[in-house]
Amino acid sequence: MKVGIVGGGQLARMLVLAGYPLGLEFLVLDPAPDACAGQVCELIRADYDDESALRRLAQDTDVVTFEFENVPDKSIHILSEQHLVFPPPAALGVAQDRLKEKNLFRELDIPIPAVRAIDNRDDLDKAATELGLPLVIKTRRLGYDGKGQATVQIECDFDSVWRDLPSVPLIAEQFVPFQRELSIVAVRNRNGETAFYPIPENTHRNSMLHLSVCKPGDPQQAQAEDYVKRLLDALEYTGVLTLELFEVDGRLLANEIAPRVHNSGHWSIEGAKTSQFENHLRAVLGLPLGSTAAFGYSAMVNLIGILPKAGDILSKPNIHFHAYGKKPRPGRKLGHATVVTASSVALEKEISGLIELTGVVAEAV
Ligand code: AMP
Repeated sequence: MKVGIVGGGQLARMLVLAGYPLGLEFLVLDPAPDACAGQVCELIRADYDDESALRRLAQDTDVVTFEFENVPDKSIHILSEQHLVFPPPAALGVAQDRLKEKNLFRELDIPIPAVRAIDNRDDLDKAATELGLPLVIKTRRLGYDGKGQATVQIECDFDSVWRDLPSVPLIAEQFVPFQRELSIVAVRNRNGETAFYPIPENTHRNSMLHLSVCKPGDPQQAQAEDYVKRLLDALEYTGVLTLELFEVDGRLLANEIAPRVHNSGHWSIEGAKTSQFENHLRAVLGLPLGSTAAFGYSAMVNLIGILPKAGDILSKPNIHFHAYGKKPRPGRKLGHATVVTASSVALEKEISGLIELTGVVAEAV
């Protein structure tokens, strides 16, 4: 069986690498000539709205999936006209627009931070009055890793805030003084079978994921599963779906969904019986899901901007190293490293080693 993937970055690359042991073949579409998935499978180099490239991707594969959500509507339409496409286009549509996403959370009774749509200057004043400060302002579309996002901390000159905001539809959210950021990676296959990974706690640096720590048995596991299950069912979803959450005073608030494999699930490559990548492939191909059970306690750090020397990482016996084959650039995700341990205490010791390694990287960015 052959899987088409729209997007040829590290997520596509890890999908491909997970699919080879299952005997799968791949074809990836990406406009960048050096898209890193192109090092491990055939790449169609074309824009995401190139009609003939999209038709070739559909015709030459059994199913098409996506490594990112911001695929143009028209492209999704072309692909789904004549072909099996998973996750379903409606799910991509929701994930592309923060307001639609919040509305879906509300419909499904999933708690969220208070939020207002911001279409003009008056809306901004109104949001500040109604929600209070600080406010987090985000673009409705095309925001990720903190891009298209600003925080208004204190009573200030709203004229200048407004001037600096991009002239696109926005939302304003109440700032959440969360104790933890969590995420749940869930998967549903074409027959409606579902499975959930143990939830990691995530720490961000400069709005990008820095560290995920997954200790199975988190007290919020059941609540997180309940919320993401509502989304999987409502969207009649197929594939991996990730729900990002804030924990505040013991309650969970939904932040956003990612209709794809997720950075906070990379620990599952070594840390779970079936990785998120393999399970996504199983789901979109209509195969039975693999166990999402963890082998132990895992932590994953992102290697951003520059990669430490391979020898420095590989000299540490418990660390698994993944380099994505991308050219170094400040702020670019170039790889990750994972540890899996038998106990929570052992994990804490290993985490400091991981952070030391990437502390060097973080300073260099
Ligand atoms: P997002 O692009 O919505 O995932 O936001 C990126 C990061 O900004 C999140 O992972 C949080 O660390 C932070 N953030 C986003 N929204 C809020 C909020 N309403 N309150 C506090 N922090 C937030």
